[in-house]
Amino acid sequence: MKRETVLIILSMLVLAFFLAKMFDSGNMSSGNRRSQELIYSDFKSLVASGEIANAQIVGDSLIEGFTQEGLGFRTYIPVEDPSVIDYLRLYQIPINYVPEKSMPWYLNILINWGPFLLIFGIWLVLMRRMQGGSGGGGLFSIGRSRAKKIEPSEMKITFNDVAGVEEAKDDLGETVEFLKDPAKFRKLGGRIPKGMLMSGSPGTGKTLLAKAVAGEAGVPFFSMSGSDFVEMFVGVGASRVRDMFEQGRQNAPCIIFIDEIDAVGGSRGTGMGGGNDEREQTLNQLLVEMDGFDGMEGIIVVAATNRPDVLDPALLRPGRFDRHVSIPLPDVKGREEILNIHAKKVQMVEEVDMSIIARGTPGFSGADLKNLINEAALGGARNNKTELNLADFEWARDKVMMGTERKSMVMSEKEKRNTAYHEAGHALVSALLPKSDPIHKVTIVPRGRALGLTSYLPENDNHSYDFEYLSNRITIAMGGRAAEEIIFDEVTTGASNDIQQATDTIRNMICRWGMSKSFGPIVFGSDNQMNVLGRDIGKDREYSEKTATEIDVEMRKTIKFHNEKAKKLLRDNVQVLHKIVDVLMKEETIDGSYIMKLLKKDQSKVAPVGS
Ligand code: ADP
Ligand code: ZN
Repeated sequence: MKRETVLIILSMLVLAFFLAKMFDSGNMSSGNRRSQELIYSDFKSLVASGEIANAQIVGDSLIEGFTQEGLGFRTYIPVEDPSVIDYLRLYQIPINYVPEKSMPWYLNILINWGPFLLIFGIWLVLMRRMQGGSGGGGLFSIGRSRAKKIEPSEMKITFNDVAGVEEAKDDLGETVEFLKDPAKFRKLGGRIPKGMLMSGSPGTGKTLLAKAVAGEAGVPFFSMSGSDFVEMFVGVGASRVRDMFEQGRQNAPCIIFIDEIDAVGGSRGTGMGGGNDEREQTLNQLLVEMDGFDGMEGIIVVAATNRPDVLDPALLRPGRFDRHVSIPLPDVKGREEILNIHAKKVQMVEEVDMSIIARGTPGFSGADLKNLINEAALGGARNNKTELNLADFEWARDKVMMGTERKSMVMSEKEKRNTAYHEAGHALVSALLPKSDPIHKVTIVPRGRALGLTSYLPENDNHSYDFEYLSNRITIAMGGRAAEEIIFDEVTTGASNDIQQATDTIRNMICRWGMSKSFGPIVFGSDNQMNVLGRDIGKDREYSEKTATEIDVEMRKTIKFHNEKAKKLLRDNVQVLHKIVDVLMKEETIDGSYIMKLLKKDQSKVAPVGS
């Protein structure tokens, strides 16, 4: 924005000057702005009556001076009245003569051209605004690509900075070798994909990985976002694409990284923004460019998206983005590695075991984990700590996971007790059931929208679950409400989330996973009809009204069964329930291991109880 500021200041100066001159014109030479202009004949009579103190003749048409009262005046001499000088002499008025002050040439230019300069300046600023700002190049760069270039000497990222994506790294190893020495590959006749599509949720490290490839190979890295291509003027995007590839060719071997490719590469003609000429032209240009180089020049185009499903199939054809690297969310081991990478940058006590944090952060992306470390450091600094310990990271985890702690939110004693029983109910049911995840801790410190939280430490991220595990999950979800019910004989709204979760699980068990005894292995409704929002709005029901009713009945029966089961478990162990609540009321947080101790069991839950 620097250029813009300069332009604005310049325009203002020009304007100020111009206005000042306009105001001033006519008495340029007068030191006295407030001088009064006299009619020539009045001036003469004032001279005659002795009221003029002095006069100064400027050039050959202006007289200025002061009256006896000290007021400034000026008047213009009619053409050809040289007698005026004699006239003044006659009345013994002191006369001074100065040649006409002419304006310096540059002021002349400024005054004459000022308005044009001003308009030009404003126009420039507006043009830059429309372009959306940053980047150099000024007026003539609209159609130039605004790709950011990172030189190999500035690129500090290598594969060592990326963790938890081993498969992707293996995939990319070959690409690195190729970029290091394209000529060698050419001789060997190996075929290297020129386009690579990375797909994965936001923050999983797609950009990071592409940078690491450039860093490993020591080649320049150009990056641009798909949304940068889409401009309001038709043709701009296409010309930017052309320019970006031109830059790439000049700098080969190199990596061209296009983030959010879905912004340009979404299916043509359908979906959101359909019929957008500009976008289509841009996409076409991209396809043309992809086809236009043979891949042996040493340019690798890496595109990233979190929605590979909406991409135009033309983009994925052979010779274009035909290599697909999928970047999943990191698993428990990956999370630990990522945490360790980022934790290196903060000061912590020796024995912090990141595997504990890793186990408590399923679903976190690399960026989330980085954020967790950062939050821990911020929190530690606020408490004047010099080293971070496990508790700091756990606090940060809860903060990142649930939003900011709402310490200031005052819960009434009754609300607190309610929440304590609710969370203790979840925890106790979970502790009593076999095949459920070990409890990490239970807290009734409100965070985000939740009043309390029971967190678990899954031993690993499962991708498939068995019937028993899923059933237990439903029982545990009902446990919170069940506890409130048996203790207070009333239920609160705090359980709505649990009920939702339980309902979803049951529906999936019946309709998708074929886990219901009465229906058997059959899928009701199909999966791939989820639309963009993940909801099955337009889902064609592939089963009859009668079946729908049966499913409803089955679901209600199942929910009821689990509710009763949870209540029975809690009633049978109500002493432990009270004890957990006592601790929660005092300390607000209780460790999973302590609950196990209360249950007089070891932490591995060898002796399952339950029906
Ligand atoms: P994406 O491009 O997939 O949205 P980024 O590459 O921009 O994600 O990730 C943002 C930041 O999160 C990175 O700069 C890095 O610090 C951190 N990060 C993400 N994934 C990883 C990972 N696998 N290993 C280490 N750090 C990661
Ligand atoms: Zn709950």
